[in-house]
Amino acid sequence: SSSFYLRAISPLQDTYRHQGQRRALLRELRQKGIHDERVLAALGAVPRHLFFEPAFEAHAYQDKAFPIGEGQTISQPYTVAFQTQLLGVRPTDHVLEIGTGSGYQCAVLLRLTPHVDSIEFNEVLFARTRQRLAALGADGAHLHCGDGSVGLPARAPFDGILVTAGAPGLPPALLRQLRVGGRMVIPVGDSQRQRMVRVTREGPESFVREEFEEFRFVPLLGAGGWPK
Ligand code: SAM
Repeated sequence: SSSFYLRAISPLQDTYRHQGQRRALLRELRQKGIHDERVLAALGAVPRHLFFEPAFEAHAYQDKAFPIGEGQTISQPYTVAFQTQLLGVRPTDHVLEIGTGSGYQCAVLLRLTPHVDSIEFNEVLFARTRQRLAALGADGAHLHCGDGSVGLPARAPFDGILVTAGAPGLPPALLRQLRVGGRMVIPVGDSQRQRMVRVTREGPESFVREEFEEFRFVPLLGAGGWPK
């Protein structure tokens, strides 16, 4: 990879075969309605198979979620693309991701802006993913371990907040930590299914809510989410 992050990936790790599989995945995402070229390019540039255990690598370029241990999942590529497209990241934006998981979405965000914070509640996943991102040379993001449902006040405000776990409602702390003009993309619903919601802070007290299609996420736990 030629960019400032993912700089530690060698051609042995990301072969022509993997790159071909990625191009096929991008065609599938376009057919499913993803149209933002910057988002497609970002997914095209991140070797998703390097976020899997080697034994499961064959699953990496199917458009499916996959278990990553600790009862959690790496989101489906379509979901990652859909959320990233809704977030509308500009190169100067400061973005907070809640639910680092495998680190894949974080690496995609780093393609769009160098200003990324990501927080993971699960300590095992946090430790594993911090190591993985460092090994891939994707160490540009600020990684945190803790309850992201209350946001990250020390690093606020954010131009974009991307929640990658299903919430029972809009966590008030996250709304407060949005900059005016900022956007939050968050799946909201019950434990079975959630509707994708985008909230734009148009003024200090003015929030616009838009609703999109339904998805199925693991639950957002914590003070602004579901009880642990
Ligand atoms: N974005 C991830 C990726 O690219 O692999 C997928 C995330 S997975 C669908 C959701 C993650 O949210 C899980 O790793 C889970 O531990 C985490 N999570 C749940 N509640 C959280 C909270 N309150 N704060 C931070 N992370 C949380």
